[in-house]
Amino acid sequence: MRGQVRRHVYLAIAALGLAGCAWQIWRGRTPDVERVFTFPLLAAFLLGAVVVLVWAPARIRWVEVGGFAVLGTVWMTTAAVQLAGTADAAEAWLSLFPGPFANLCLMVVLAHLWFDGRWALVASLLAPTLALTIGLARFLPDDVGYALDLVGAIGYVLVLAMLAYLMARSKEALARSRAEASRLRELAHTDVLTGLPNRRRLMDALHAAVQDRRADGRTAVVLFDLDHFKGVNDRYGHDIGDLVLQEVTDVVLATLRPDAVFGRWGGEEFLVVVPQAGVDEGAAVAERLRQAISDHPFSGGLSMTASFGVSVVSDADSVDAVLLRADRLLYVAKDSGRDLVVTRLPRP
Ligand code: GH3
Ligand code: MG
Ligand code: MG
Repeated sequence: MRGQVRRHVYLAIAALGLAGCAWQIWRGRTPDVERVFTFPLLAAFLLGAVVVLVWAPARIRWVEVGGFAVLGTVWMTTAAVQLAGTADAAEAWLSLFPGPFANLCLMVVLAHLWFDGRWALVASLLAPTLALTIGLARFLPDDVGYALDLVGAIGYVLVLAMLAYLMARSKEALARSRAEASRLRELAHTDVLTGLPNRRRLMDALHAAVQDRRADGRTAVVLFDLDHFKGVNDRYGHDIGDLVLQEVTDVVLATLRPDAVFGRWGGEEFLVVVPQAGVDEGAAVAERLRQAISDHPFSGGLSMTASFGVSVVSDADSVDAVLLRADRLLYVAKDSGRDLVVTRLPRP
């Protein structure tokens, strides 16, 4: 459960509980033990819980663990005192319903809500086991029939505890597999070397840009390729080549505006999707990147440059058409001497 939702639900329950305690104390028709022990103690706990939830929400766990201990102790003690004070077995049996029996079921639910795994099972079996012991101590000397009825009633609560355990475990398994699925989805969209979005995620961004073009117009696509990168590998080795790719990533991330999607298109080619940008804004972004890369002192005193092609998603464009244009422009930049930004094809 999300933190805020949990806090609000607890506050609502505490408010209801406080109102219930006040009503019971004011009405004065409850047994003595409830008037002088149960409801004042519950009210004190609920007030404490409200204070924590409002002024120290980070300590919400105190409310949960404390709540389990306080509610368990108060309810069990109340049931034991009430049982001991009854005149005969029939009256004792009636005193168990609905209050103590309902509280027992509530303890099972709270155990699974507030504890995990085996601890939840242990916590949820604790209250029924205690209740059975207390009840049998009261009924067995008096009436075996009621003792057997009690075993039946507690049997229901134990079944509830085990089903709640199964439910909690299958929810845990579901949460685990959802987390795993999202981790795999993340991996499938991330480039291993640079940690950047990979081609698959860039394609998603391009498709979204093409679909949105009528909604808010323009998106610029900047494709760039490192110049003479093969020479770096050949001269300094593949590891240094990898390092350069990572450094280029850092330089570009430090230069780009945050709404741009920057990813590794493949090899030493990168792509930037710049939303709300026409050809001039796209060219300005590319120019800043070109400058930043050529100014950057790479590890080992290396200098690098890159060539850029900038195209803009226009009406009736497809992703392939935008990419093809950017690719052609990039190769015009290569043919024109590299370390260059090109936005228009030369006239034939
Ligand atoms: P140009 O200026 O024309 O782009 O020349 P270039 O040398 O950069 O281009 P070319 O396509 O000939 O070489 C690209 C090189 O990039 C070849 C390939 O081995 C290298 N490369 C691709 N991916 C990686 C990688 O992940 N790590 C390293 N170290 N090298 C890579
Ligand atoms: Mg290259
Ligand atoms: Mg290349």
